[in-house]
Amino acid sequence: MPENHHKVIIIGSGPAGLTAALYNARANLSPVVFEGIQPGGQLTITTEVENYPGFEDGIQGPELMDVMRKQAQRFGAKTFFKQVTKVDFSKRPFVVEAEKEIYTADAVIISTGATAKWLGIPSEEKYMGYGVSACATCDGFFFKNQKVIVIGGGDSAMEEANYLTKFASEVLVVHRREEFRASKIMEERAKKNPKIKFALNKVVKEILGEEENGKKVTGAILEDTRDGSTEKVEVDGIFLAIGHKPNTDLFKDQLEMDETGYLIVKGASTYTNIDGVFAAGDVADHVYRQAVTAAGMGCKAAIDAERWLADQGIE
Ligand code: NAP
Repeated sequence: MPENHHKVIIIGSGPAGLTAALYNARANLSPVVFEGIQPGGQLTITTEVENYPGFEDGIQGPELMDVMRKQAQRFGAKTFFKQVTKVDFSKRPFVVEAEKEIYTADAVIISTGATAKWLGIPSEEKYMGYGVSACATCDGFFFKNQKVIVIGGGDSAMEEANYLTKFASEVLVVHRREEFRASKIMEERAKKNPKIKFALNKVVKEILGEEENGKKVTGAILEDTRDGSTEKVEVDGIFLAIGHKPNTDLFKDQLEMDETGYLIVKGASTYTNIDGVFAAGDVADHVYRQAVTAAGMGCKAAIDAERWLADQGIE
């Protein structure tokens, strides 16, 4: 087989991809990981991770991903800081093109994740991980008895707002329209919660913060979408809940996806519609979206791939 042929190619290097790499490396399959444009995935833009089991005192997101990568490498996984630009799953071995180089693989595991949608304003980027978050489950705990904003009017926004009332003293839902996109039941639940207030027909124009006593968010400027008037609110955290986009553009017309672009897997397995191509993590899961569930699915994908390869006579 040519030098660029591998038994398993893993596309994406978040918890799903690196866990798959660890398992396949320990199964002597010498997997290769293409890390993509955000090596380590979404956890590299968070700070403290307290809900990944095994770290009693928590761990920084980038450090966790670093450890995962090294753990996979220890057993022989190869990781490349390369972005896959094209795939061809119509024939075997599968073809994967990364930065003009052609690779082939007997099996492919896709773990390209999803990207939270952001507002795209500079102050948001500046305070990301320092009060600005796109994951209430991950970061809500840090806002005990504090005031936070949740941006969005869909189910995620309602769910995250409700969840955050476990910690925060007040949650202000900022939504750009009068009507919610959320299901009625989720909307009603949020409206009944005495800790949740609403700022409708409003967008967050600017996120305010300070750096003197440690970088942190102190407030936001809200703009009225009807008349352009602005107001300042004091808050300690801003949670984005304006949706996620699965990173699946590369696989269009080759793999089955749902209407929002998430890869479809068969039942509780990680099999896609093409035998030998597996999917794990947020790219195939818009429900849980946790590092630990992604890692679990990465493990499943590695085992599915290993067993499928064995059935093909590739050990
Ligand atoms: P979503 O349904 O697409 O809602 C996104 C919300 O963010 C919308 O209200 C949208 O406003 C707003 N938005 C989008 N871009 C914005 C921007 N640039 N600035 C300000 N606001 C912006 O996304 P989601 O809530 O994450 O839900 C995704 C899917 O998962 C849905 O199918 C949902 O039902 C499902 N989900 C279900 C549950 C549950 O059942 N427990 C929980 C979470 C998610 P507009 O309304 O004006 O477009």
